[in-house]
Amino acid sequence: MPVQSLTRSSSETAMGDLSARRRLREEILAMTHSEAMARNYILRALSRSDRDSLAPELTLQELASGDILYEPEYPADWVWFPVTAVLSVVTVMRDGRTVESDTVGRESAVGILASISSAVCTSRTFTQIPGQVLRLSAARLRRQANDSPVLRKLLMRHALANLAQAHQSVACNALHDVGSRVCRWLLMSQDRTDSDIVRLTQQYLATMVGVQRTTVTALLAELAEEGIVARSRGRVDILDRARLEARVCECYETVQSNYERLIGVAAVTV
Ligand SMILES: [Zn+2]
Repeated sequence: MPVQSLTRSSSETAMGDLSARRRLREEILAMTHSEAMARNYILRALSRSDRDSLAPELTLQELASGDILYEPEYPADWVWFPVTAVLSVVTVMRDGRTVESDTVGRESAVGILASISSAVCTSRTFTQIPGQVLRLSAARLRRQANDSPVLRKLLMRHALANLAQAHQSVACNALHDVGSRVCRWLLMSQDRTDSDIVRLTQQYLATMVGVQRTTVTALLAELAEEGIVARSRGRVDILDRARLEARVCECYETVQSNYERLIGVAAVTV
């Protein structure tokens, strides 16, 4: 499967292209194990020998919305590589309150650092958008990382890309207007699922961009009035990606290009 471009051309994003997207979604549902591996940025960047060793041990699974993968202070027994699913990382406070602090799609994975360092998890992680993931035993990844310098380098570069994304989000929340931040989240969700239907509640979007739900409701109403999105309960349909891209802040492209630069297929060599 060819590596997909991080920035889609405007011809791919026209409203008339919805049926092509639907076909792509159907192809994703029927994809093979190796095609699933090629969709995840980390797995597609594995060296030939790491891929040959790990592929038989990666199992393709379907996750339902709300499935809990990790709890704080528990060991990470598995590493999860999203294929079409989107995972949500939650910070749990001492009084039990929780805040969703990160989302993870096919550009990344969860559990890598805890697995290779034999550490416990620091956050709760659950499925935000249902879909497919590839699962690998933490012990198996640790063994492979001990034996393979090129894999260790890839995993460290992945950690760096994650850190850069967290830093960019802090800067984005401080400097950029809420409208462009909402557009960024919608585009990121579409990239991760290859679907025009973004199954995120307005409350969730509000938490991720750090504003009140009513602010997000008003912004989505504005986008809907212009024919860029359509809203219904628990979902936002993207009707015009090109116009969404025209409104997004620089952080969208910066984060995407960091992942491509650090863990793109050709980026990692010994
Ligand atoms: Zn920004």
